[in-house]
Amino acid sequence: MSEPENKPKPEVKEQVVQLYKKTERIHPKKADGKYANIRIFMIIATQLFFYGVPWLMWNGRQAVWFDILGRHFYIFGMVFEPADLLYLTGLLIVSAFGLFWWTTVAGRLWCGYSCPQTVYTEIMLWIDHLVEGDRNKRLKLDKEPWHFRKIRIKLTKYLLIFAVAAWTGITFAGWFTPIREFVPAIFNGTAGNVALGTAAVYGLITWLFGHIMREQVCLHMCPYARFQSAMFDHDTLVISYDTARGEPRGARKKNAKPEDKPLGDCINCMACVQVCPVGIDIRDGLQYQCIGCAACIDACNEIMDKMNYPRGLIRYTTEAVLQREYTDADIKKRLLRPKVVGYGLALALAVVGLIAGVATRQTMQIDIIKDRGVMVRTNKQGLLENAYTLHISNASDDVQIVTAKVQGFEDIYLTGLPENGIAVPPRQIINVPVQVATQPEYARKGSHPIEFTFQYRLEQGEQAIREIREKTTFMGE
Ligand code: SF4
Ligand code: SF4
Repeated sequence: MSEPENKPKPEVKEQVVQLYKKTERIHPKKADGKYANIRIFMIIATQLFFYGVPWLMWNGRQAVWFDILGRHFYIFGMVFEPADLLYLTGLLIVSAFGLFWWTTVAGRLWCGYSCPQTVYTEIMLWIDHLVEGDRNKRLKLDKEPWHFRKIRIKLTKYLLIFAVAAWTGITFAGWFTPIREFVPAIFNGTAGNVALGTAAVYGLITWLFGHIMREQVCLHMCPYARFQSAMFDHDTLVISYDTARGEPRGARKKNAKPEDKPLGDCINCMACVQVCPVGIDIRDGLQYQCIGCAACIDACNEIMDKMNYPRGLIRYTTEAVLQREYTDADIKKRLLRPKVVGYGLALALAVVGLIAGVATRQTMQIDIIKDRGVMVRTNKQGLLENAYTLHISNASDDVQIVTAKVQGFEDIYLTGLPENGIAVPPRQIINVPVQVATQPEYARKGSHPIEFTFQYRLEQGEQAIREIREKTTFMGE
């Protein structure tokens, strides 16, 4: 049976599917309390270190200066060279085991209190709060049309943000260039392009990550959020909402006892959500977005105080406690579990190894490079001779005098190095061509092991003599 021709066709509605969800700007409420104070303390401590250290002086030189162009890294009295990158590797190993260890013990402590992303976001939020007021005022201001007062407030805020970002960039560059010369040079227009470029790029990153992108960096760019769960276990301290105590949630009058209504302790006030810098609800359970800032603990404790309920509806606790396997009082006993002890031991070993390595580090390094062009030759005295280059690196701040002897044959001569030694200037690498010679009957065909003994001492001051032994080979006829 055919359909009647005049039957209206069903209307097809055009539907737009959003593949990209625009995120709303988060305006977290300011949280006050114990953990907010710890965060303030950590921000002040880390930033005093970051902004202050480049200004320290040591023996007339910037105390900490990573002179990349000059290929020297100064840390107080120590001078490191690219060859010392081994110590940087050691430092990275210590940092990695440190991160594994405290993440297993107490979750994202690093993210919550010391990560530069958290620190600069918090500083920018302080500026927001200082200039525009707390959350409600900021939300209201954002919705208002542009008028003189709004322009003035926004302009003040952006000037302050620019000042913080610019000074952060300049300070960052100051770790790599003498800051006491760099800062005046910026103002008199003589600063180098590399240092200026470094300051500009880092300042831009501070503004972009700390003010514009904020939680988006933690949510979408930071790899740590993705692999942290590999370090978490049943006994890791994480910031959690006590569902058994809080639910069923619901509004009630102040001072109402939970038993007056069949409700849990959560009054559904949303204070924990309003202070969250990543805009999540901790009551939904452990989420990878949570940076562990503990603002929700402070906010909820304030509410619990107002309601005369015990604190800790949101608190640092373990999954096992929430599942009532043991109580909060037993958490300390779970610290000595194999994973924590293993990471702790690895961390301790790495720290000891790094300290021992730096403490016993030689400021003089000598490599013997064989002259591959001329394997063996007969000199004017009729002796067999091999040529070498001594690659001498003085990583100290003083002139050092190096002397050398060589052993390996009954009759062996070293020429090319003055008998009373060669002076190696501070923080310099020199190449010294030398020759080793012996009687032809001692060095038959093939290679023969020989050993150099180098002695070095300061040209002035302490006269202690240190020794380096290096093995190499002598090619016979
Ligand atoms: S859920 Fe709590 S601890 Fe996690 S980011 Fe939000 S406020 Fe911070
Ligand atoms: S702050 Fe506490 S009481 Fe208020 S909603 Fe969050 S968990 Fe519930």
